[in-house]
Amino acid sequence: AVTRLQPFGATIFAEITELARSHDAVNLGQGFPDWDGPAAMLEVAREQIATGNNQYPPARGFADLRAAICEDRATNYGLEYCPLSETLVTVGATEAIAATMLGLVEPGSEVILIEPYYDSYAAAVALAGATRVSVPLVRDAAGFVLDVDALRAAVTDRTAMIVVNSPHNPTGHVFGPDELGAIAELAVERDLIVLADEVYERLTFDAPHLPIAGLPGMAGRTVTVSSAGKTFNVTGWKIGWALASQPLLDGVLAAKQFLTFVGGGPFQPAVAHALRHERAWVADLQDDLRRKRDLLTTALSEAGLAPFRSEGTYFVCARVDGEDAARWCRDLPAAKGVAAIPVTAFVDHEEPWRDVARFAFCKRDEVLDEGVRRLRG
Ligand code: PMP
Ligand code: GLN
Repeated sequence: AVTRLQPFGATIFAEITELARSHDAVNLGQGFPDWDGPAAMLEVAREQIATGNNQYPPARGFADLRAAICEDRATNYGLEYCPLSETLVTVGATEAIAATMLGLVEPGSEVILIEPYYDSYAAAVALAGATRVSVPLVRDAAGFVLDVDALRAAVTDRTAMIVVNSPHNPTGHVFGPDELGAIAELAVERDLIVLADEVYERLTFDAPHLPIAGLPGMAGRTVTVSSAGKTFNVTGWKIGWALASQPLLDGVLAAKQFLTFVGGGPFQPAVAHALRHERAWVADLQDDLRRKRDLLTTALSEAGLAPFRSEGTYFVCARVDGEDAARWCRDLPAAKGVAAIPVTAFVDHEEPWRDVARFAFCKRDEVLDEGVRRLRG
């Protein structure tokens, strides 16, 4: 076995989803919606297959999808990217993240992760032969906030990159202008690359998403990653993208071409269609998820857990009252017929996350209601 990857084992999502399946549990663990995306988008994918779009797409993705991605960024945030040289279609955000690390981080350098962090970051850092350094998101009265002093203190001469995931999985924290401003200032001062994982950019419930690439000095040092999976309920299509200035994007492409080369041919025109024509559907999704967030947050309190405030994503975290959440989550499918993810799966330091579990609310109302009924029971 390759020792570089030995510490990672099987992902927590594979493990908990398998447990959920074997106990016929309501799966509030792995974050995927259990209803379909916009019908017209699905129809475009079917038509594409029927009319022969079944071979390799171009290396950077179909030009029309790259144009649609850039139009969407410009409309949403006023940020301009060149579809020819600054836009790359990838096999989900996961590949964009791995290719960014492999293409832009030298072995022996350091990558800063904000803890808790999405599990693929640590594995991608290891694949690149780099070392991760984690700085905490801390809990305060309003929810969560970046420890900016810890971030400053974590930068060394070997630091190459900071990974910023907002809206944040697993906490649902949406980074505000002060936090993003502090990260950007530090990145400029210490000449660092920022990898901005914005897969939940459209799933914010209280304040709008702010892309860090739009802050002063950041356009030329940020690789922004997003994906159609969370925006259009198609997590299985694995159509993602990376946006960056040409020198950075060339590095990402250098790695990406040897990972998958290309992917998702017939889905790419469907995602282009959705980016252009399904804004109303996405607005409804956002409203729906806001309501589901409220429903699950209230229900978790009523079930005796202590939920934190979630401002975005599919997730709400809750304290499971002094218990070891890893054990609690492994017992939960058998004990209550519900599945959840322990937040310790996303950390290097167990405290203060030992008793915190993550629950997904991206489920149909009847499924959420049944999950809630079981948790209370
Ligand atoms: N980043 C974060 C924060 C995620 O939660 C996920 C999984 N949903 C991904 C990246 C991976 O996205 P994709 O499914 O497009 O590869
Ligand atoms: N991103 C989703 C989550 O955090 C699922 C990821 C996965 O299954 N790898 O739950």
